[in-house]
Amino acid sequence: MKVMKFGGTSVGKPERMHHIAGLVTKETEPTIVVLSALSGSTNALVEIAENIAKGDRGVAKQLIDKLEAHYQQFISELVKKPAATEKAKSIIAEHFEFLNIILKISFSEALSKDILAQGELLSTKLFSVYLEEQEIAHALIPALEFMTIDSYDEPQIGSIKVKLSQIIKQHADKTLFVTQGYISRNARGEVDNLKRGGSDYSASLIAAAINATVCEIWTDIDGMHNNDPRIVNKTLPITQMSFDEAAELAYFGAKILHPASIWPAQQYKIPVKLLNTMQPEAKGTLVVEEAGSVGVKAVAAKDNIIAIRIKSSRMLLAYGFLRKIFEVFEKYRTPIDMITTSEVAVSLTIDNPIFLKEILRELEPFGTTEVDYNQAIISVVGNEISQTTDIIRKLFGSIVNIPIRMVSYGGSPHNISLLTDAEHKIQLLQQLNKGMFGLD
Ligand code: ADP
Ligand code: ASP
Ligand code: MG
Repeated sequence: MKVMKFGGTSVGKPERMHHIAGLVTKETEPTIVVLSALSGSTNALVEIAENIAKGDRGVAKQLIDKLEAHYQQFISELVKKPAATEKAKSIIAEHFEFLNIILKISFSEALSKDILAQGELLSTKLFSVYLEEQEIAHALIPALEFMTIDSYDEPQIGSIKVKLSQIIKQHADKTLFVTQGYISRNARGEVDNLKRGGSDYSASLIAAAINATVCEIWTDIDGMHNNDPRIVNKTLPITQMSFDEAAELAYFGAKILHPASIWPAQQYKIPVKLLNTMQPEAKGTLVVEEAGSVGVKAVAAKDNIIAIRIKSSRMLLAYGFLRKIFEVFEKYRTPIDMITTSEVAVSLTIDNPIFLKEILRELEPFGTTEVDYNQAIISVVGNEISQTTDIIRKLFGSIVNIPIRMVSYGGSPHNISLLTDAEHKIQLLQQLNKGMFGLD
């Protein structure tokens, strides 16, 4: 069995949905198709939820109506037969009635998650109507019945596996399954999600749960590139990379993959392929255990980083100091991304600001703290790069007139990270593209 995940742009136009129906029906092995919401839908739903949360129900209503009109237009080109059109219309009516009801009741966090789930529910149901119109046998299987997260928001592959295999067994006559990416049910039984971009994570979790032969991530670009194509002019696709390299790139900002999407595939040894829906014959990127080659593969940037420096003379020759500092971050469940130390100070970075005030208060007894907001981590990723001779000269030689706040080298053999003020991010990515990859 295999998994094919299609992102927002891959399903965002009626002709694209027709096209992916062609791709999934070419398959000879049983397939689970995981779909995102139509491009722009989740952003629109976030805006709707935000307006309802702040009491701007008039604005929320306008946004709901605009989104509904977009779906009406979409189905008018998606399906043609009267029965399919009727069905698609009633799906839209059902989901937009739900959004309009939410407008009238008092807002809660749980309701906002319900709002966000509508995008994937709509895209999969409409795709299913199209497949039905084309007489393509398939089963639409609800992610909310198997994709569960625990009270720490962690998905549990074991229970996903049990539930999913039961559902698949109920459709023993089918070889094509369609389900929603992104959405899940939390420990309280409420509708929840795997965070923005989470459909990749859904696909990898499903692939792990069914022990798939491959997890294909179909998107709008021909694989993982050596740099962020939204920022630098010239980038090239990478043919093969290791799970470790892909995980580092995803975690450190390569938007093509959700930050957590690699570990399930890695743990269950499922190859991941990054493929281009618009150019299905392109090779894309294969992610497996072996890196395929040594040396620098790519750079990526992660935004909205906060750097904290804790300075204390008590750190001098002291042991146990770092443990006490880490305990503060542990208490507030705030992961640390980068860390560097000197004899009298430690600098570290976080990207989750929710408990920053509490963390700073609890760090007070350890020394003086300085906080730099709006930083960016630029990561240089490649197989065993820390053992590649000449890397440091090449890396630092590429950087001209950009202040670097922190450097992290050797933590992982696959990653060297630099911290700089966000205002220098674009320039730094461009300079590295030229210096490390010879691309202008
Ligand atoms: P989808 O909607 O299919 O999930 P995303 O927009 O989430 O697609 O991810 C694909 C986008 O990721 C590409 O269009 C590209 O602009 C961006 N991207 C950022 N960094 C990289 C990279 N290193 N390689 C490829 N794409 C990248
Ligand atoms: N639709 C969700 C989002 O836009 C999930 C995804 O596309 O992966 O974040
Ligand atoms: Mg995505």
